[in-house]
Amino acid sequence: MPARATATATANTSPAPAVSIAQPLPPPPQPLPNPSTTLQSYPRHRHRHRHRQHLPSPSRVHCSTTTTTKPKHNPAKLVIEPSRLQTPPIFNDPSLQSTWSHRAWVACGCTTVLVSLAKCVTAAANSHMWLEPILAGLVGYVLADLGSGVYHWAIDNYGGSTTPVFGSQIEAFQGHHKWPWTITRRQFANNIQALARAVTFTVLPIDLAFNSPVLHGFVAVCSGCIMFSQQFHAWAHSTKSRLPPPVLALQDAGVLVSRSQHAAHHRQPYNNNYCIVSGVWNEFLDEHKVFEALEMVVFFKLGVRPRSWTEPNLDWAEEIETPQILRTPLI
Ligand SMILES: [Zn+2]
Ligand SMILES: [Zn+2]
Repeated sequence: MPARATATATANTSPAPAVSIAQPLPPPPQPLPNPSTTLQSYPRHRHRHRHRQHLPSPSRVHCSTTTTTKPKHNPAKLVIEPSRLQTPPIFNDPSLQSTWSHRAWVACGCTTVLVSLAKCVTAAANSHMWLEPILAGLVGYVLADLGSGVYHWAIDNYGGSTTPVFGSQIEAFQGHHKWPWTITRRQFANNIQALARAVTFTVLPIDLAFNSPVLHGFVAVCSGCIMFSQQFHAWAHSTKSRLPPPVLALQDAGVLVSRSQHAAHHRQPYNNNYCIVSGVWNEFLDEHKVFEALEMVVFFKLGVRPRSWTEPNLDWAEEIETPQILRTPLI
């Protein structure tokens, strides 16, 4: 039987509900109509999987609630779209295959990254400065993992298929949680084309405008890792026997995100291990509850709940691959 939670509340002006909760439980309060409203206190616990949140204490708005049963999140309050994920992609499903447009975008992305790398090497050779570009590349590799985690967290938790620009990525990642094994059936260019497109638009202007070996050392490695992060992700879902030995060695060495680490992302409570380049940030981000803090900020500023606050439902839970679905990998 859940603990009894009690709080006191009186609204003054521009009421933004804030809850003071003496004991664990209630879900986050109603979305704030006025983001600027100050708060008496925040919910200490918003989910049974979550830990205590220590947040600043404010003023003016108080509310009262008594709970004697386990709180239920109201799906009507979620600012997400209803799922359109009905059936898993099947073998030779067009949605898993590469098109010439996908291949063209991958070619553009790779070209911009290689141009950046070439400018780095050329400028380093001309200036006899090698250490700084190499260090910049290492920083780019480490930050690419962090960037992949932030992006993955955002599209796992917010928006839907009709969200401008990111809609198809959001739908693909949400479908990925239901049928994670399909990523190993997705063709290469299909899998990374969206990131290749983003890399093209970001790196091309840098290629044209700058010649610094340090800048290009950072940009080439960081953008390359981000572009290929979806391939690293696919490898993290593959079986050991199907992976090329060099990939297996890089996973085992922690250079690429490991299969075991990413498998934890696909288990309850579905709110950790978001990073998919090397996974080096996962432990830090999860231990310090960085994404949970960001979710609280988004909720109190915008009134939007992340998908991970809902009880795990059929959209999160993995649907096991059935014998009816052909297991032959796409070529
Ligand atoms: Zn995910
Ligand atoms: Zn995955």
